[in-house]
Amino acid sequence: MQQETMAIHSGYEPEATTRAVAVPIYQTVAYAFDSAEHGEALFNLEAEGYRYSRIGNPTNAVLERRVAALEGGMEALSASSGQAALNYAVLAIAQAGRNLVSVPQLYGTTHTLFAHVLPSLGIAVRFAESDEPAAIARLVDADTCAVFCESVGNPAGNICDVEALAAVAHDHGVPLIVDNTVATPILLRPIDYGADIVVHSLTKFMGGHGTTLGGIVVDSGRFPWKKHADRFPMLTRPDASYHGLVYTDHFGPAAYIGRCRSVCQRTMGSVLSPLSAFLLLQGIETVALRVERHVDNARRVAEFLRNDPRAAWVNYAGFPDNPYHALARKYLAGRACSLVTFGVRGGYHGGKRFYNALRLVKRLVNLGDAKSLACHPASTTHRQMSPEEQCKAGVTPETIRLSIGIEHIDDIIGDLDQALDAAMAPGRGRLAAVRAGAAAGMR
Ligand SMILES: *Cc1c(COP(=O)(O)O)cnc(C)c1O
Repeated sequence: MQQETMAIHSGYEPEATTRAVAVPIYQTVAYAFDSAEHGEALFNLEAEGYRYSRIGNPTNAVLERRVAALEGGMEALSASSGQAALNYAVLAIAQAGRNLVSVPQLYGTTHTLFAHVLPSLGIAVRFAESDEPAAIARLVDADTCAVFCESVGNPAGNICDVEALAAVAHDHGVPLIVDNTVATPILLRPIDYGADIVVHSLTKFMGGHGTTLGGIVVDSGRFPWKKHADRFPMLTRPDASYHGLVYTDHFGPAAYIGRCRSVCQRTMGSVLSPLSAFLLLQGIETVALRVERHVDNARRVAEFLRNDPRAAWVNYAGFPDNPYHALARKYLAGRACSLVTFGVRGGYHGGKRFYNALRLVKRLVNLGDAKSLACHPASTTHRQMSPEEQCKAGVTPETIRLSIGIEHIDDIIGDLDQALDAAMAPGRGRLAAVRAGAAAGMR
């Protein structure tokens, strides 16, 4: 009791709780060593514990263990955002002169990273013509460091044949990296199908409330780096940036995530705040329940839109005539994700009138929030792409992407219904837009 009082009033903790091996009771940047020898052992990665929060801290460690467990992985490393996690995932095993082979259907910013930023560092990214395993196989060569896909593409809604892509990657001696943000481990665990590395934007369904940015890299611990030692010298030969450490010797099967932490996180520093980790952990406690409701609501919305003449088309993998239906059955047990894209009749302008008339569904470029969201990819998330690139990414000018939330289904459909009405009646659409703006201001 007395010790707690001391902690509150003095601003530092009773001695035991600041020790490197203990869980602190509140936020701290660095951790005290027992002795010089203890500090030395921690920096040599010989003792388990914490040194400095950029490299690891106990709150983030709980998040990392929990997501690794959900994904069936060995270890994980959290990062400040999904993009930071993607950067780490690639840079841990890529270097100038090497290449990455990717499916074309990607999150807009990931596409920008791959098409422009990595190439400027000398890492080429080869975009396959499609997400077909054969299209990927054609592009892999001796300089390839990994194959990349999104298990369920955002916003294209394509479902990758993870097992076949893993087989292609492994035949060529490279790992498969899967962005599992849209599916979540509740619907699909890519490691069960042979994926080696899983990346998440925790910002989306995992956190689930649209309040907190975060990302994570999960290592399955299964890729045989040593067997392909020449391809991955950064893991299998002494690393000058870490006093000659050989990751495969030191970390064994966790070599990859060890390098992500010791090199990428330590030197690039896109660290997740522990307060954000705490908020994301709260979200993860309900992700299974939320995803169930997201999926049920999305089915109802897709059915509503399919039967409505005001919608030109609906892309929803839960329908038997969808090209990805078989993969949805195999990988998602038929539970298609709650991203539904559709075209409003009336093309670009019809789409805009619909978008402006929404009242419950929020006009945001996020997804995976408990609240229903809508976005117009061509003018926002995919704006940096050429029309041809947009088309390959599954985005057309009239596409509206809905991220169906967990509200009561009648409320969601009621809002879509009135917005479709507005889209069909240009005059009223403008009025509805003004009203929607006023209502949004009051929220
Ligand atoms: C949002 C998203 C990202 C980026 O995540 P941030 O947390 O916003 O950095 C990456 N991949 C996919 C599929 C996403 O939806």
